[in-house]
Amino acid sequence: MVMGKLLGSVELRTAYEDVKSRIESAAARRGRRASDVVCVAVTKTATPDQIRQLIEMGHQDLGENRVQQLTQRVAVIDEFLARRRQLAGAVPRGTGDVPDKVRWHMIGHLQRNKVRQVAPLVQLIHSVDSLRLAEELDALGGKMDRTFDILLQINCSGEAGKFGVASPATIPLAEQIDSMMNLRLRGLMTMAPYSQNPEDSRPTFARAAEIFKDLLSDKIGGPHCNILSMGMSGDFEVAVEEGANLLRVGRAIFGDVPSDE
Ligand SMILES: *Cc1c(COP(=O)(O)O)cnc(C)c1O
Repeated sequence: MVMGKLLGSVELRTAYEDVKSRIESAAARRGRRASDVVCVAVTKTATPDQIRQLIEMGHQDLGENRVQQLTQRVAVIDEFLARRRQLAGAVPRGTGDVPDKVRWHMIGHLQRNKVRQVAPLVQLIHSVDSLRLAEELDALGGKMDRTFDILLQINCSGEAGKFGVASPATIPLAEQIDSMMNLRLRGLMTMAPYSQNPEDSRPTFARAAEIFKDLLSDKIGGPHCNILSMGMSGDFEVAVEEGANLLRVGRAIFGDVPSDE
């Protein structure tokens, strides 16, 4: 990972290819197919140019953790895609595999008063961590005549001050959410405590995978409940080894902005 700077276009491609090949190797170590693992590119340190370049490389899944940044970036990228579509009308088809649309993921803490702003923009909300937030989303879905896909964020490291449902509360809350008409429970999301050593994340990820297995064996969520979102720049290979099928990777793709800037 290149720290302290954002990557230019050639470096961006190299970093992206590197992340993809590391995902492939980690999947292979567990006899899994890399195509079963989706990488969400977390754009919170990225420039709009970098996001556009990544899309032009065929990448479709993008994530943000802040509401304001999410709404701004959705608008910028929508405009970019609309312009591309106009151009595509003027030139012959079949050049490259640039997607027509992207999928946005809300990965950060969501306040109930921001639900209305966020839910209609995203494919998946990773960070549902309370009954009250779930109820708010369900009510909005009812008003809009829509179903929202969500993950339950769990805190299985027991770390204080972290968002997420405590492990013992996960299954009961999952059952409550499963009974809501306008929500579709797609699975679980977790974050490991910060550490320089990726191996430190393994127990947290293994615990999340166990709870995920319990969900599946209890048939909570039904056939759509099939997503385990875990692993970031520092620990995504360990996450894949422990069963993650959705990763959230920012700095390893885009580089890093010094925090004092
Ligand atoms: C920022 C963020 C990530 C990505 O972190 P990197 O270390 O840049 O890969 C993943 N998940 C959440 C919830 C985040 O806020």
